[in-house]
Amino acid sequence: MSGTPLLAELRTLIAQTGPIPVEHYMALCLGHPRHGYYRTRDPLGAAGDFTTAPEISQIFGELLGLWAAGIWHEMGRPAPCRLVELGPGRGTLMADALRAIRAALPPFAAAIDLHLVETSPVLRAAQNDRLAPAALPVHWHDAVETVPAGPAIILANEFFDALPVRQYERTARGWCTRRVGLAPEGDGLAFGLDPEPVPDLAAAAPEGAVLTIPSAGLAVMRGIAGRLAREGGALLAIDYGEADLGLTDTLQAVSRHRSIGVLDAPGETDLTAQVDFGALARAAHAAGAAIHGPVPQRDFLLALGLQQRADRLAAGAPADRAAAVVAGAARLVDEAPTGMGRLFKVLGVSGPGLPNLPALPRSTLSG
Ligand code: SAH
Repeated sequence: MSGTPLLAELRTLIAQTGPIPVEHYMALCLGHPRHGYYRTRDPLGAAGDFTTAPEISQIFGELLGLWAAGIWHEMGRPAPCRLVELGPGRGTLMADALRAIRAALPPFAAAIDLHLVETSPVLRAAQNDRLAPAALPVHWHDAVETVPAGPAIILANEFFDALPVRQYERTARGWCTRRVGLAPEGDGLAFGLDPEPVPDLAAAAPEGAVLTIPSAGLAVMRGIAGRLAREGGALLAIDYGEADLGLTDTLQAVSRHRSIGVLDAPGETDLTAQVDFGALARAAHAAGAAIHGPVPQRDFLLALGLQQRADRLAAGAPADRAAAVVAGAARLVDEAPTGMGRLFKVLGVSGPGLPNLPALPRSTLSG
């Protein structure tokens, strides 16, 4: 347990108000205005805490750009068309996507009205630098709700896993809200439970089972799906997660590419929970949108032509660069049980004008 600045604030808060729900703890750890993890640093890359697909290979962003271009064409080529990214990190995905779009479909590039949803000032600055060569006006938002109405293509890689989740634990009394309070000894924090169960939760489960509700993600998804149903367009959400997570507790903290305790260094470590794609898909469907997938990242990227793009890039490159291209592409579609190609899933959500999305099967959920 390390004495982070946020830990001191949390101890004061908890002393005043009592233990806080896990959801509130996660929101403060990631988004506290002064000490939140994403407010204070660039966490990405080999020198940071974790690496993401666009940082591994340029092909990832390029293929997502081509995916968006295909959809824009299907939509009847609206101009302007909002191109929106949620949680754009260093701006790498978008820079690669825009380059591919310019080469493949210049009229789409000309129609793009670019909006980035990003709360981190550090990463906004990185995005500004990375996107400068694209010479397109960029509009930043704290939340997707302020992106102007109209047809939109929305991309989100490793965004939903950073949104706060609510947790309940099964006890002999029923399902009780999980909270973070002061440890009985020392200066640290400890998990605890509400004494009273939540009355409207009745699912049967063994004692000790943990139920995770992606509360913030569901709210974002409802808003986006409603928008797509009304205004047209599509969302592509890529994240590590499952269509059915069951009762596994996947809340985790990662620091310098290693797993550490969720309560060990508040504000200094990345906190994520695996994405419950089933819950998100049901919420989107209920809001009037069509669902596509989820499918493993491997299937999605191979269907979009990852192998052909890697071959072409490698063919013209010096041997060491060619080897890096091949290795990066292979990592994105790695099918080992812990490989990105299998752990990461791709979910599409679309408005009424888009019955089919490239490289994603229509899900039976949407009937
Ligand atoms: N998509 C990028 C970065 C993933 S990290 C990539 O693949 O490399 C998560 C991103 O979401 C970061 O840019 C982070 O600052 C942003 N983020 C996290 N919580 C957010 C929130 N509540 N609202 C907006 N952006 C958020």
